[in-house]
Amino acid sequence: MKKIEVEKHDNNYEFDLVCIGGGSGGLACALKAVELGAKVACIDPQRGAAGIYTNAGITYKKQMHQACLLGKDIRHAAYYGWNICSARKRSINWRKLISSIENATEDVAKEDDRMKYIKFFNGFGSFVDAHSVKIKLINNEELLVTGKHILVATGTQPVYPKIPGSLEYGITSDEFFSLPSPPTGKTLCVGGGVVCMEIAGILNGLNFNVTVMARSEVLRGFDQEMVKLVMKDMTSRGVAFLQHCFPKSIALTRCKRLIVTYNNNQKNNAEEFRIFDRVIWAIGRRALLDDINISAINPALNDSEIIVNEYEETTVPNVYAIGDITSGRPKLFSVAVAAGDLLAQRLFSGAGRTMNYENVARRIFTPLEYSFVGLTEEEAEERFDRSGIQIHHGYYEPLELALTHHCTNFCYMKVIAKCDEHYPILGMHITGPNAGEIMQGFSVAINSGLTLHKLFATVGVCATNAQNFTQLFNKKN
Ligand SMILES: Cc1cc2nc3c(=O)[nH]c(=O)nc-3n(C[C@H](O)[C@H](O)[C@H](O)COP(=O)(O)OP(=O)(O)OC[C@H]3O[C@@H](n4cnc5c(N)ncnc54)[C@H](O)[C@@H]3O)c2cc1C
Repeated sequence: MKKIEVEKHDNNYEFDLVCIGGGSGGLACALKAVELGAKVACIDPQRGAAGIYTNAGITYKKQMHQACLLGKDIRHAAYYGWNICSARKRSINWRKLISSIENATEDVAKEDDRMKYIKFFNGFGSFVDAHSVKIKLINNEELLVTGKHILVATGTQPVYPKIPGSLEYGITSDEFFSLPSPPTGKTLCVGGGVVCMEIAGILNGLNFNVTVMARSEVLRGFDQEMVKLVMKDMTSRGVAFLQHCFPKSIALTRCKRLIVTYNNNQKNNAEEFRIFDRVIWAIGRRALLDDINISAINPALNDSEIIVNEYEETTVPNVYAIGDITSGRPKLFSVAVAAGDLLAQRLFSGAGRTMNYENVARRIFTPLEYSFVGLTEEEAEERFDRSGIQIHHGYYEPLELALTHHCTNFCYMKVIAKCDEHYPILGMHITGPNAGEIMQGFSVAINSGLTLHKLFATVGVCATNAQNFTQLFNKKN
């Protein structure tokens, strides 16, 4: 193995920081570290700096969601007096959509000026010891680098179920967003989590047939009242749900379609089958710890996730972990980026601030968008008991849907407060257009100590959906 020749910067290590994984979190940490004058190596098999491209992955999703909204707008435009002659015959040009997103992604991928100060290694990193990392470059060459600090930010990979035909006939979200040909025919999305529901929503919004299969409840862990609205809306648009079902096998039929056999828990585990043209697995993701030879350093683990403390330190000195590979952290792009940035600040500028993992706002790009910040009703009840919380709620009719009345039955908002002096707000939830954009502002407010009294004392912005929160006087029993 060749040892790389670089000038020594600190102690006896070639680098101040070696990042294994240059995705969302790893790259954010590397960028902040070089900005603060550290000497940084970043190892990633994807084009040297994958963070920009994983960010672009989220861009794919948002643009596809936007394509769905536009399709709906074309239909709705007629209500506003537009003459849309062929609205009924509208169809999506999948290849055009993918190529437009690809072109836009090139713009997202424009290099950050700080990138040139990072030493990139296009390959896979694995531990030799707590200060040394072996790099297997894409061209199969091997190198060894040493670092004073090592960061693990290798994220997770999609999981395939261990059933016959799952690998041969199924794809994952990683492949879905760049499918070369349109997903015509019938698609089965298996999972029921965020990724599954978003892909199902996109397929439906682009006029493709889709069924969701989930082993238990859909969007488990989210506020179930809100989830029911999201599901009702999707069902009303034509998405089929097979709940409490799990696949047993997939096989190819003579006409090259897929026969999916599954057990239906709602019918005494009866075996049933259906025919599809495509199966998308969205049943979860898992860190590949063996690939980074984690046993060479042996940090404390929780299943396949690395346990870290509030400083993102693993149980091995000088080895840190951030992002999806860590245990008990929200698996979100912005969380990984913020954690990486703050870690670099603590390591190289003496800053002390740690990451606040509480009250991170989320949004789901289902056809009826859902966004929230803070506790779900279930969590609030568990922590403070029903008598310890006060809930305000109500349906609202977005003005932008007033002429079409489309999906207005499911536009709903809810505020959960603690029964205390001033009623501090524990959680806010909304389904409806631009839900995430609305929640961004309220998440700042909640993180700054928003109370029910302050919310109701705020004058809303006229003719917006967000203003309904300031007039949500109706209490839930
Ligand atoms: C389909 C999908 C949609 C999502 N949508 C959203 C969203 O809308 N909003 C949101 O906030 N989050 C979203 N996420 C989650 C978000 O992408 C992750 O939480 C975030 O990217 C985690 O960052 P990370 O740095 O831990 O891992 P990643 O960004 O996944 O980066 C890990 C990097 O490590 C590299 N790597 C792996 N093994 C090695 C190795 N041995 N050596 C070197 N490098 C290695 C990989 O190539 C990769 O570049 C989505 C995720 C998926 C799968």
